[in-house]
Amino acid sequence: MKRLALILLTTLLLTGCGTTTPTQSSQAAYVASSTSAKFHRPDCQWAHKISAGNKITFSTREEAIKKGYEPCKVCRP
Ligand SMILES: [Zn+2]
Repeated sequence: MKRLALILLTTLLLTGCGTTTPTQSSQAAYVASSTSAKFHRPDCQWAHKISAGNKITFSTREEAIKKGYEPCKVCRP
């Protein structure tokens, strides 16, 4: 039983580290919401309103367009 607890603890620690990668936000050049068809620059007022659970990131403009997203008319990415 002690061994099982140790495995669970290790798994929790590993997954915890995986979600807090600091490079993720700096690499994202464009952001979009899974509930919207528009994509934004990360500093756009609308980008800040996207909740973490719905946030999608793209490294290039082309990537966002290929996935069916349109550029926002406010930040003009
Ligand atoms: Zn925008």
